[in-house]
Amino acid sequence: MAVTDPYKTLGVNRKASEEEIKKAYRSLALKFHPDTNSGDPKSEERFKEVQEAYSILSDPEKRKQYDSGGGMFGSGFDPKTRPRGGAGGFGGFPGGVGDILSDLFGGASGAGAPGRGRAVPGRDLEAEVHVSFDQAMEGGQVPVTVPLQAPCPTCRGTGARPGTTPTVCSRCQGRGIETQGQGLFSLSQPCSRCGGTGTEITDPCATCGGRGHTRQVKRYRVNIPGGVKDGSRVRLAGKGEAGRQGGPPGDLYVVTRVDESPVFRRRGENLEVDVPVTIVEAIRGATVEVPTLSGTKRIRVPAGTQHGTVQRLRGEGPPRLGAHGRGDIHYRITIDVPRSLSSDQQAAVDELADVMDGNPREGLFEGRES
Ligand SMILES: [Zn+2]
Ligand SMILES: [Zn+2]
Repeated sequence: MAVTDPYKTLGVNRKASEEEIKKAYRSLALKFHPDTNSGDPKSEERFKEVQEAYSILSDPEKRKQYDSGGGMFGSGFDPKTRPRGGAGGFGGFPGGVGDILSDLFGGASGAGAPGRGRAVPGRDLEAEVHVSFDQAMEGGQVPVTVPLQAPCPTCRGTGARPGTTPTVCSRCQGRGIETQGQGLFSLSQPCSRCGGTGTEITDPCATCGGRGHTRQVKRYRVNIPGGVKDGSRVRLAGKGEAGRQGGPPGDLYVVTRVDESPVFRRRGENLEVDVPVTIVEAIRGATVEVPTLSGTKRIRVPAGTQHGTVQRLRGEGPPRLGAHGRGDIHYRITIDVPRSLSSDQQAAVDELADVMDGNPREGLFEGRES
């Protein structure tokens, strides 16, 4: 590669001012910079030509030399001996070029390739799934639909109309961050104009309108572990929004909404069930059938059982999330008082009243008698 005519390369006339040359170089460097051209070899070649041309015309000494007969330059500018840096490697360039490039691309520190190479991680997403009470107890696969933003298939996520390329963001100069305040109290945050990508779209893709992503619905089948509660979150690593520019995808959090059971109430790791017994069963004791998650069991209600007494069946409850074993089922005995009686029952109750004449409320008035 040899510099033929630096004026031609930069598209300026021979009387161009320093400012005009700088301006021409800026726009051409942006246009052909490897960071905005995905390593397109043609652009890279042009970029180097532009750099060579600018290195001549930006130096009054070299420019004069070229104007007065041209072509031959000091060793530092011989294209054959100049160390050829890779894309983005500006270390070996003369001061003027390096300065203006770090100005353009904000890469004076050399911390990674500025602009295009900045990975932006995808966001985490959240989706709700509704599961029946039984599904929540047993676990299993449930379908979940997630509306998300996926890279646009037309522009492959760049947001630029195919055949065009994004340019360096004018607000952050490709850094992807903007800084507010100064010194100790400065605050860096993703650039508000480019959203941290460091690039701007001048010719937007028609499919996505330049956003680089389109709305899509993803369908997954989620393994819901047995024992999930209403509001439990199941994490699906990497199923969140796609990252940009090589950034990792986010995660998907599936929040389970569990239907209520008409029978079982969730109490932490356990379940609770109300078990009504008759007055007679409570007085005499009884063996009663109770529901479990897998069927039924019989429990012994002892004679003289009080209202609200709780009996436990250990290990019959829901699987413990993130632990071994299962919780318990608590059976809460309630005494079912009939609202109306047949005449036979009325007669029996009258008889009972005659023989059970104690006053259970005596204790309420202890120490209050005057
Ligand atoms: Zn697009
Ligand atoms: Zn920006």
